[in-house]
Amino acid sequence: MQEEFLILSRNTKEVFKKIIDDAVSAITNTIDSANAFSGINPYALRSIISKKEILPACGVGWRSVMEDINHDVLPHMLRSWDPSYMPHLHSPALIESIASELIIASFNNSMDSWDQSPVQTEIEEKVIKTLTSLFGYDDNGDGTFTSGGSQSNLAAITAHRDSFLMKGGWDVKKNGLPPYFDKLRIYTSEISHFSMEKSAHLLGLGYKSVVKLPVDGKCSIDIVKAEEIIKSDVDKGLIPFLFVATIGTTDFGSIDDIEKIRKICNRYKMFLHSDAAYGSGAIMSSRYSDRLGPLYLSDSITIDFHKMFLLPISCSAVIFKDKKELECFALHADYLNREEDEEDGYINLVSKSIQTTRRSDAFKVYLSFMMRGKNGFASIIDHDIEIASYFYNKISSDPLFLAPVSPRLSSVVFKVNKSDNVNKRIRRALLEKGIIIGQTVYNGSVMLKFTLLNPEINEEKIDFLIEEIKKLSEKF
Ligand SMILES: *Cc1c(COP(=O)(O)O)cnc(C)c1O
Repeated sequence: MQEEFLILSRNTKEVFKKIIDDAVSAITNTIDSANAFSGINPYALRSIISKKEILPACGVGWRSVMEDINHDVLPHMLRSWDPSYMPHLHSPALIESIASELIIASFNNSMDSWDQSPVQTEIEEKVIKTLTSLFGYDDNGDGTFTSGGSQSNLAAITAHRDSFLMKGGWDVKKNGLPPYFDKLRIYTSEISHFSMEKSAHLLGLGYKSVVKLPVDGKCSIDIVKAEEIIKSDVDKGLIPFLFVATIGTTDFGSIDDIEKIRKICNRYKMFLHSDAAYGSGAIMSSRYSDRLGPLYLSDSITIDFHKMFLLPISCSAVIFKDKKELECFALHADYLNREEDEEDGYINLVSKSIQTTRRSDAFKVYLSFMMRGKNGFASIIDHDIEIASYFYNKISSDPLFLAPVSPRLSSVVFKVNKSDNVNKRIRRALLEKGIIIGQTVYNGSVMLKFTLLNPEINEEKIDFLIEEIKKLSEKF
């Protein structure tokens, strides 16, 4: 095989097919391995990788590099498709969406301007329209794809801060923060995602601008206490501008009450953002979408496709009820997104985005949505929610276990009724066998977690894991 190939071209078609074929075989060869992970410890793995000469003076060529990868890398790759993998909101990828990644990478279009991604720009616009209507916004809705839920939240918080201050006559884009910036406040659950604090820091507001509200026994925001806190802050002269509801908290999958939060926001003239990075997938379900509440009441929504929707990392969008809010990201450059082009119908998506060069993640949504339809996604998501319920019901009736919150989505947080140390050791022992479950803390106590995003996880698998955990709990 020619190894001096540079790019996909008329002369390299055969080389392209061979290389992709080799890679596909290398991947499929790992599929028979039991469990999600080889179980190798970090020191042993580091010693394999740290010996590598990554940049030799003369390249070793495709064949040798594949031998290296087949021998030292792929066997230890985390096999996210395996049903013994459930620690995080980290899903396996649908097979057709892996093919869409190949198409995306081969054409290597960039979403910043129409002349770098003509059909992909039109596809992203169409996918965004599909999403705004799926979540209940009217024609005035719009949105953008982002690198993940964290950036979707950052974009929403930025846009709402700017809109809020603009209403008071202050233009942040031109002038930076107003003199009263240290009075601005964002309200969110004490168990909301840490991207709220990160965003507040990046926006010059600091962690102190994020007020963490207490949750009730279901791990949803305690609405009565929330309103008391906001009222007392206003009395102190603070300026609430945004409420972030979490629609599926990262650990528990708990859901805040949008309807009641909207009323508070109306009373205090705050914007409302729904962080539905996790829960958004349930919109596809006819049985469970009601659990999300009326999301269209929020001014913006974060949607992650690399969680419940099972699309490859990364794939996320943020949508806004009022498309004007996206103008906060518009800035015209002579070399990229000329105003005259936009007047003639050439859409340059950079005008709605924090990123400039950007991959065409919307294409993955286009392909999988069309292929599977709403029903296809509903069957996956219903299964995940139902298997979580199955697991919760089983352990709730067993005195060895404690599961404090009944699942609304597909995560179950629980512990073995023994010391923190025993629970930690159970997780480690499973990891060494290649079974990866989650660990977190609830009310000061170490908890274990099953995050059930993989539709291959069935009742037998759950029963088997319960038995394994029981055996380990007797051992420690
Ligand atoms: C996962 C998650 C995020 C962050 O999304 P990334 O895609 O990991 O950046 C934000 N909020 C919630 C509730 C999440 O579960």
